[in-house]
Parts: sequence; structure tokens; C-alpha cells
Amino acid sequence: MTRTVYVNGTYLPETEAKVSIFDRGFLMADAVYEVTSVLGGKLIDFDGHAVRLERSLNELDMPHPISKEELLEVHRELVRLNDITDGMIYLQISRGAPNDRDFVFPDPETTKPTVVLFTQNKPGLANSPAAKTGIKVISIEDVRWGRRDIKTVQLLYPSMGKMMAKKAGCDDAWMVEDGFVTEGTSNNAYIIKGNKIITRALSNDILHGITRAAVLRFAQEAQMEVEERNFTIAEAQDADEAFITSASTFVMPVVEIDGAAVGTGAVGPLATRLREIYLDESIKAAI
Ligand code: PMP
Repeated sequence: MTRTVYVNGTYLPETEAKVSIFDRGFLMADAVYEVTSVLGGKLIDFDGHAVRLERSLNELDMPHPISKEELLEVHRELVRLNDITDGMIYLQISRGAPNDRDFVFPDPETTKPTVVLFTQNKPGLANSPAAKTGIKVISIEDVRWGRRDIKTVQLLYPSMGKMMAKKAGCDDAWMVEDGFVTEGTSNNAYIIKGNKIITRALSNDILHGITRAAVLRFAQEAQMEVEERNFTIAEAQDADEAFITSASTFVMPVVEIDGAAVGTGAVGPLATRLREIYLDESIKAAI
């Protein structure tokens, strides 16, 4: 099926959607993005994604080309036009396309940001079989830039990390800096010890996951303890359970790290419960 996508105010077939070769997203990864899940035709955590988008734009001195209300309208219209029940909406805003290549930012008065949105249809997104079996991760050195809190499209290294994991027969990679886990290639990383959930504290070193914020809130409400601190791969291998969170995988158990089983090597009860709570509560609050 030909998707209907959104480019700078217009809805059109994906085959007709065009962006300039001078677009700074294309030439310089000068762009930010968000991915919002759709479950049952409704948007999960839309507000959180809209707020983080605004922050990313501010941090990069990029103009805000579209209001939150308009953005919600575009998301809903794309869900409707593409008949999405379960899936994702990808949104990207770049600094736009000046008519040449230059390291200096273009004048925002004459060069307007490029706004692109498209849907990804994923029937049964919340019923992924991997949630029952858990995933396997490898560890790799984190060599990304120092502003990982800004959600930019500089995804080459995370993409290479996924390929390294695939080559090793695993599903994903956890990145390690100065001996401590930062995050997964496209998700936040957690371990569980007893009743305690341990995850790295927020800083410029990691993306401030929208799912992370919700899961930590639900965990506390469910009387689980939350400790925001650094942990090592060795500590993770020795934990009772481990998991990742992201907008498209929700809460996904991790059962093996660098070949060592985590806990029993099977999906544990707390990660399972957190996934259920997250999905229940987020679907209830979906708009
Ligand atoms: N960390 C990184 C590096 C990511 O790319 C993502 C997903 N985009 C996350 C964490 C999870 O963030 P969220 O829960 O907002 O999807």
C-alpha cells in the first residue's frame, strides 16, 4: 500500500514526497526526530514526545515550525489516512534546505525547517513474541557525541551497534562509557536486584526516554524501588533481571548480556509486570 506522508504542510503519496539535496538533515544530520507509538488507533505518550521535541529544537537553536496542537492534528490525520491500528509515527524536523552547503547555520528568516512525518504500520506491536522470550544484548564502547540528550538523527553509530549485535547472533547492544552502561542503541537500559530497579541517572550522556519517565513512575506506584545510578556490565550480568524501554518496544526483557544469562536466563516476573502496567496505563491514557 502506498502510504500517505506529510511534508511541510502537505499530505501526499510517499512516492511523490520530496526533500531538497541541500537539506541539512541529509547533508549534516542537522535534524531532530521523535517516534510515537500508536496502539488501538491512539497515540501513546504524545505529550511527552511533543515536549521533548520542543527541548531538542531549543537546544539546537532551531525554529519551532509547528505548534503542539497542529502536530497532534497531523499525527491523528496520518493515523486516519493510513488506517493505522498499531504502529509508529516518525517525525523529523531539520534546519531546512538553504540553496548551498555551508557549515554556518542558514538565516532562519529565509530558510524554513523541513517537517516530515510518516507512519509505520506494525499490527500487533504490543504483542511482540520477543517480550515472552527476552532479548540478548552485547556490550560495545559508546563512541557517540556528548549531547545524547538531544534526539538528533545522528544514528550511524547506533545503527552500527545493531549490526555488531546481529553479527554476534544477538538483538541489540548496550553501550559502555568509562566502564558504565549508558544505554541501548535505541532504548534505555535497566537492571533489577531484588525489588530494586536500577538505571543510569539523566544527564547529557543518555536520551531522556519518554517511556523511561513513565515506567519509573509506574514502578514507584507499584511499590518497586527505583535507584538512578551507574551500573557496569558485570553488575548487570549478576542481576536478577534486566530490561530496556523505548516508545516502540515498551518494556522488553533482556535475558543475556555478552553471552552470560541474566538471573535464570528466562524472562523474569518484575519486567513482565512492568510491561503489563506500562501497556495498561499508557493505553488508558492514549489520545
Ligand atoms: N535512548 C536512545 C539512544 C534512543 O534512541 C531511544 C529511542 N528513541 C531511547 C533511549 C528511548 O526513548 P523513548 O522511550 O522516548 O522512545
